[in-house]
Amino acid sequence: MTEDEVSLRKQLVEHYQKVDALGLNEMSSGNLSVRFRDEMLISPNGATGDSISLENIVRCSLNGEYQGKRLPSSEWRMHASIYLKYADAGAVVHTHSDYCVAVASHEISLPGFHYLVGVFGGGDVPCVPYSTFGREKLAKDASDALAERTACLLGNHGMIAKAPNLKRAVNQAQRLEIMCRQYVLAKQIGEPKKLTKTDWEDFFKKADEMAYARNG
Ligand SMILES: [Zn+2]
Repeated sequence: MTEDEVSLRKQLVEHYQKVDALGLNEMSSGNLSVRFRDEMLISPNGATGDSISLENIVRCSLNGEYQGKRLPSSEWRMHASIYLKYADAGAVVHTHSDYCVAVASHEISLPGFHYLVGVFGGGDVPCVPYSTFGREKLAKDASDALAERTACLLGNHGMIAKAPNLKRAVNQAQRLEIMCRQYVLAKQIGEPKKLTKTDWEDFFKKADEMAYARNG
Protein backbone atom coordinates (compact mmCIF):
# COMPACT_ATOMS: atom_id res chain seq x y z
CA MET A 1 0.00 0.00 0.00
CA THR A 2 1.40 3.39 -0.97
CA GLU A 3 1.93 6.20 1.50
CA ASP A 4 -0.88 8.31 0.03
CA GLU A 5 -3.35 5.41 0.37
CA VAL A 6 -2.34 4.83 4.00
CA SER A 7 -2.73 8.53 4.73
CA LEU A 8 -6.22 8.66 3.17
CA ARG A 9 -7.29 5.50 5.05
CA LYS A 10 -6.12 7.14 8.27
CA GLN A 11 -8.13 10.29 7.51
CA LEU A 12 -11.18 8.18 6.67
CA VAL A 13 -10.99 6.35 10.03
CA GLU A 14 -10.65 9.67 11.92
CA HIS A 15 -13.57 11.29 10.11
CA TYR A 16 -15.80 8.21 10.41
CA GLN A 17 -15.16 8.30 14.17
CA LYS A 18 -15.93 12.02 14.21
CA VAL A 19 -19.31 11.45 12.49
CA ASP A 20 -19.96 8.81 15.16
CA ALA A 21 -18.88 11.10 18.02
CA LEU A 22 -21.13 13.88 16.69
CA GLY A 23 -24.09 11.49 17.07
CA LEU A 24 -24.82 11.55 13.33
CA ASN A 25 -24.25 7.82 12.86
CA GLU A 26 -26.33 6.00 15.46
CA MET A 27 -26.09 2.21 15.14
CA SER A 28 -23.75 2.66 12.18
CA SER A 29 -26.41 3.64 9.69
CA GLY A 30 -24.12 6.01 7.79
CA ASN A 31 -21.10 5.66 5.55
CA LEU A 32 -18.18 7.72 4.42
CA SER A 33 -15.84 7.60 1.42
CA VAL A 34 -12.95 9.46 -0.16
CA ARG A 35 -11.85 9.51 -3.79
CA PHE A 36 -8.59 7.68 -4.39
CA ARG A 37 -7.15 7.98 -7.92
CA ASP A 38 -9.89 6.57 -10.22
CA GLU A 39 -11.41 4.54 -7.36
CA MET A 40 -12.68 5.24 -3.85
CA LEU A 41 -11.93 4.16 -0.31
CA ILE A 42 -15.18 3.51 1.56
CA SER A 43 -16.24 2.37 5.02
CA PRO A 44 -17.02 -1.36 5.03
CA ASN A 45 -20.52 -2.74 5.36
CA GLY A 46 -21.31 -3.04 9.08
CA ALA A 47 -18.53 -0.69 10.21
CA THR A 48 -18.81 0.97 13.62
CA GLY A 49 -16.78 3.74 15.22
CA ASP A 50 -15.05 1.06 17.31
CA SER A 51 -14.42 -1.47 14.55
CA ILE A 52 -13.37 0.71 11.62
CA SER A 53 -9.65 0.48 10.92
CA LEU A 54 -7.03 1.24 8.30
CA GLU A 55 -7.12 -2.40 7.21
CA ASN A 56 -10.87 -2.94 6.90
CA ILE A 57 -11.62 0.14 4.80
CA VAL A 58 -12.57 -1.10 1.33
CA ARG A 59 -10.87 0.01 -1.87
CA CYS A 60 -13.62 -0.09 -4.47
CA SER A 61 -13.80 0.84 -8.15
CA LEU A 62 -16.58 3.16 -9.29
CA ASN A 63 -18.41 0.18 -10.75
CA GLY A 64 -18.27 -1.84 -7.56
CA GLU A 65 -15.24 -4.12 -7.90
CA TYR A 66 -13.65 -4.29 -4.50
CA GLN A 67 -10.52 -5.73 -2.97
CA GLY A 68 -10.20 -7.71 0.27
CA LYS A 69 -12.56 -9.73 2.42
CA ARG A 70 -14.89 -6.98 3.58
CA LEU A 71 -17.86 -5.83 1.51
CA PRO A 72 -18.06 -2.11 0.77
CA SER A 73 -20.94 -0.18 2.33
CA SER A 74 -24.28 -1.24 0.82
CA GLU A 75 -24.64 2.37 -0.41
CA TRP A 76 -21.45 2.29 -2.52
CA ARG A 77 -23.52 3.07 -5.64
CA MET A 78 -24.58 6.48 -4.29
CA HIS A 79 -20.96 7.33 -3.51
CA ALA A 80 -19.65 6.05 -6.87
CA SER A 81 -22.35 7.86 -8.83
CA ILE A 82 -21.36 11.18 -7.21
CA TYR A 83 -17.65 10.70 -7.99
CA LEU A 84 -18.49 9.75 -11.59
CA LYS A 85 -20.64 12.87 -12.13
CA TYR A 86 -18.66 15.52 -10.27
CA ALA A 87 -14.92 15.92 -10.72
CA ASP A 88 -14.79 18.30 -7.74
CA ALA A 89 -16.21 15.69 -5.34
CA GLY A 90 -13.34 14.38 -3.23
CA ALA A 91 -15.37 12.93 -0.35
CA VAL A 92 -18.95 11.80 0.29
CA VAL A 93 -20.85 11.35 3.56
CA HIS A 94 -24.24 9.68 4.04
CA THR A 95 -26.09 9.63 7.37
CA HIS A 96 -29.47 8.87 8.93
CA SER A 97 -29.07 11.68 11.48
CA ASP A 98 -32.21 12.45 13.50
CA TYR A 99 -33.37 15.80 12.17
CA CYS A 100 -32.43 15.11 8.57
CA VAL A 101 -34.58 11.97 8.80
CA ALA A 102 -37.38 13.96 10.50
CA VAL A 103 -37.59 16.37 7.54
CA ALA A 104 -36.89 13.71 4.88
CA SER A 105 -39.67 11.51 6.27
CA HIS A 106 -42.12 14.14 4.96
CA GLU A 107 -40.35 13.97 1.59
CA ILE A 108 -40.03 17.77 1.58
CA SER A 109 -37.09 20.02 0.76
CA LEU A 110 -35.52 22.00 3.56
CA PRO A 111 -36.76 25.48 2.61
CA GLY A 112 -34.84 28.74 2.78
CA PHE A 113 -35.98 29.64 6.30
CA HIS A 114 -32.46 30.75 7.32
CA TYR A 115 -29.63 32.27 5.30
CA LEU A 116 -27.23 29.40 6.16
CA VAL A 117 -29.38 27.06 4.04
CA GLY A 118 -27.50 28.90 1.27
CA VAL A 119 -24.19 27.27 2.18
CA PHE A 120 -25.42 24.16 0.35
CA GLY A 121 -25.47 26.16 -2.88
CA GLY A 122 -29.03 27.46 -3.30
CA GLY A 123 -32.21 28.66 -1.64
CA ASP A 124 -33.21 25.20 -0.38
CA VAL A 125 -31.87 21.69 0.15
CA PRO A 126 -33.86 19.34 -2.11
CA CYS A 127 -35.28 15.99 -1.08
CA VAL A 128 -35.28 13.11 -3.57
CA PRO A 129 -38.20 10.65 -3.57
CA TYR A 130 -37.93 7.44 -1.56
CA SER A 131 -36.45 4.39 -3.26
CA THR A 132 -34.82 1.23 -1.91
CA PHE A 133 -31.41 1.55 -0.28
CA GLY A 134 -28.46 0.38 -2.33
CA ARG A 135 -30.38 0.47 -5.63
CA GLU A 136 -29.25 2.23 -8.80
CA LYS A 137 -32.35 4.49 -8.75
CA LEU A 138 -31.42 5.96 -5.38
CA ALA A 139 -27.84 6.49 -6.59
CA LYS A 140 -29.08 8.28 -9.73
CA ASP A 141 -31.65 10.46 -7.95
CA ALA A 142 -29.24 11.45 -5.18
CA SER A 143 -26.34 12.24 -7.50
CA ASP A 144 -28.59 14.20 -9.91
CA ALA A 145 -29.84 16.32 -6.97
CA LEU A 146 -26.26 17.40 -6.26
CA ALA A 147 -25.80 19.15 -9.62
CA GLU A 148 -26.30 22.57 -8.01
CA ARG A 149 -26.13 21.67 -4.33
CA THR A 150 -23.54 20.13 -2.04
CA ALA A 151 -26.13 18.12 -0.09
CA CYS A 152 -29.62 16.71 -0.42
CA LEU A 153 -32.16 14.86 1.70
CA LEU A 154 -33.21 11.32 0.78
CA GLY A 155 -36.95 10.73 1.19
CA ASN A 156 -37.81 8.45 4.14
CA HIS A 157 -34.12 7.72 4.52
CA GLY A 158 -31.53 10.43 5.43
CA MET A 159 -29.05 12.76 3.78
CA ILE A 160 -25.97 12.72 1.55
CA ALA A 161 -23.31 15.37 0.90
CA LYS A 162 -20.27 15.84 -1.31
CA ALA A 163 -17.25 18.05 -0.71
CA PRO A 164 -13.67 18.47 -1.93
CA ASN A 165 -12.34 16.68 1.18
CA LEU A 166 -13.42 14.63 4.20
CA LYS A 167 -13.31 17.51 6.68
CA ARG A 168 -15.68 19.61 4.61
CA ALA A 169 -17.97 16.65 3.88
CA VAL A 170 -18.37 15.96 7.61
CA ASN A 171 -18.98 19.69 8.22
CA GLN A 172 -21.77 19.56 5.62
CA ALA A 173 -23.42 16.62 7.39
CA GLN A 174 -23.22 18.41 10.73
CA ARG A 175 -24.45 21.72 9.28
CA LEU A 176 -27.43 20.08 7.55
CA GLU A 177 -28.39 18.29 10.77
CA ILE A 178 -28.30 21.64 12.64
CA MET A 179 -30.37 23.38 9.94
CA CYS A 180 -32.98 20.59 9.91
CA ARG A 181 -33.17 20.72 13.73
CA GLN A 182 -33.69 24.46 13.68
CA TYR A 183 -36.34 24.12 10.96
CA VAL A 184 -38.23 21.51 13.00
CA LEU A 185 -38.07 23.86 16.03
CA ALA A 186 -39.25 26.83 13.94
CA LYS A 187 -42.23 24.78 12.65
CA GLN A 188 -43.40 24.26 16.21
CA ILE A 189 -44.49 27.89 16.48
CA GLY A 190 -46.03 28.09 13.01
CA GLU A 191 -44.77 28.36 9.45
CA PRO A 192 -41.42 30.16 9.39
CA LYS A 193 -40.87 33.11 7.07
CA LYS A 194 -38.78 32.23 4.02
CA LEU A 195 -36.04 34.36 2.48
CA THR A 196 -37.18 36.04 -0.74
CA LYS A 197 -35.57 35.80 -4.18
CA THR A 198 -34.01 39.23 -3.58
CA ASP A 199 -32.68 38.08 -0.20
CA TRP A 200 -31.01 35.10 -1.89
CA GLU A 201 -29.56 37.20 -4.70
CA ASP A 202 -27.94 39.48 -2.14
CA PHE A 203 -26.80 36.52 0.00
CA PHE A 204 -24.95 34.94 -2.93
CA LYS A 205 -23.53 38.35 -3.96
CA LYS A 206 -22.15 38.81 -0.44
CA ALA A 207 -20.87 35.21 -0.36
CA ASP A 208 -19.01 35.87 -3.64
CA GLU A 209 -17.51 39.05 -2.19
CA MET A 210 -16.30 37.07 0.82
CA ALA A 211 -14.77 34.41 -1.45
CA TYR A 212 -12.93 37.12 -3.41
CA ALA A 213 -11.72 38.63 -0.15
CA ARG A 214 -10.44 35.22 1.04
CA ASN A 215 -8.74 34.45 -2.28
CA GLY A 216 -7.10 37.87 -2.45
ZN1 LIG B 1 -28.72 4.90 4.37
